[in-house]
Amino acid sequence: VTAREGLPKADLLIRNAAQIVTCPAATPYRTAVVTGGSLAVVADRVAAVGDPDEVAHAVDCTQAATIDASGKVVAPGFVDCHTHLVFGGSRVAEYAARMTGADLSELRAAGVPVGPEATVQMTRSASFEELVAAAAGRLRRMLHAGSTTVESKSGYGLSTPFEVRLLEVNGVLDEMQPVDVVSTLLGAHGFPDDRSREQYLEELVGPMTMRVAEAGLAAFVDVWVDDGYYTKVEARRILRAGQAAGMQAKIHADAYSYVGGTDLGAEIGAVSVDHLNYTPRHVMRALAAADVVGVIMPALDFAVAHPRPFDARAMIEEGMTLALATDLCPGCWTESMQFVMALACRLSHMSPAEAMWAATAGGALALELGEDRGSLEVGKRADLQIWSVPRYEDVIYRLGGNVVETVVKSGRIVVGPAVEGEGGNA
Ligand code: ZN
Repeated sequence: VTAREGLPKADLLIRNAAQIVTCPAATPYRTAVVTGGSLAVVADRVAAVGDPDEVAHAVDCTQAATIDASGKVVAPGFVDCHTHLVFGGSRVAEYAARMTGADLSELRAAGVPVGPEATVQMTRSASFEELVAAAAGRLRRMLHAGSTTVESKSGYGLSTPFEVRLLEVNGVLDEMQPVDVVSTLLGAHGFPDDRSREQYLEELVGPMTMRVAEAGLAAFVDVWVDDGYYTKVEARRILRAGQAAGMQAKIHADAYSYVGGTDLGAEIGAVSVDHLNYTPRHVMRALAAADVVGVIMPALDFAVAHPRPFDARAMIEEGMTLALATDLCPGCWTESMQFVMALACRLSHMSPAEAMWAATAGGALALELGEDRGSLEVGKRADLQIWSVPRYEDVIYRLGGNVVETVVKSGRIVVGPAVEGEGGNA
């Protein structure tokens, strides 16, 4: 007992884990799995992780709540670093019709909501409370599927008041439930139909950026750079204005064409460039050299049956740091990073280790939160999940399910508690 005097007192101890997947932030794609280990939490932090004896010597666990993780996997909480979480309505009829290649103009004529413009309409006409309630339901399911931090972009408002309202919804969501919601201003997601392109550009770089920055409503500013969307020149203005106002840059780049969005990311020091279907090899090298995280979203490629899925193997070969995200939106409605990992492995040829790291540590880096979360290292935020399977590769093997049994957010059990015997057969 005397040996324990002066040691920090653990609030939570997870012991006997078949695997603890630590995913160190400093070494991309390394899962650093501990077998049969323990993890101790003090307040909201990971206090010790690894061999049970070492953990017992580092932290006093005598009064800790204890979870027996025999036959189970302990992993960092998912960091879903690219979503369009807040929107009004649904486009299920459009998605269903697309399965058999139906004529979308006929659907439109019949009054069925089609395309992002329909989502803008439904989002504008929804009340603040309706937007909060719909997004809160999605966040609850994301939490139960293991996500503990979710980025949420505006972009279905397309005017200063409507974009500000979406970011205010993010703020309410962040306060009302356990998942941390990180806000991104994406006023440049499309073009409004009630003013000219030039007028809207001036609004984006002027009043919209100012109002969002003054109210501290967003950590990031984002632009969709693509054929038919914003040009590289327009995007540079918007992102520079956002950076000058204290926001960090992200770019929707090379999703449907290569018009220089990724070059711009390397040039201006964007935190991430996202999509990357048409990114040339030499630009991948430039992004790696500039430390820009590549955010890839296999569920989006799947949902739109993309003619040219992104090439994860090429990006890894060229030295890029990758993050996985859902891209949850009305055109790609998934709340599950587990589904995203399965697709990343089977369709994009990532190894389970690469997908695991990219869904956790990679996502944290894409949100500039790598120092704080995304990996189970001493001093990091205790955001973690316990899976009812014995190996982490099971998450990409048991298709379409949910292996999450317990979720811990900032040291508190928010989903669970762990129960014995669920699917833990090796
Ligand atoms: Zn997006």
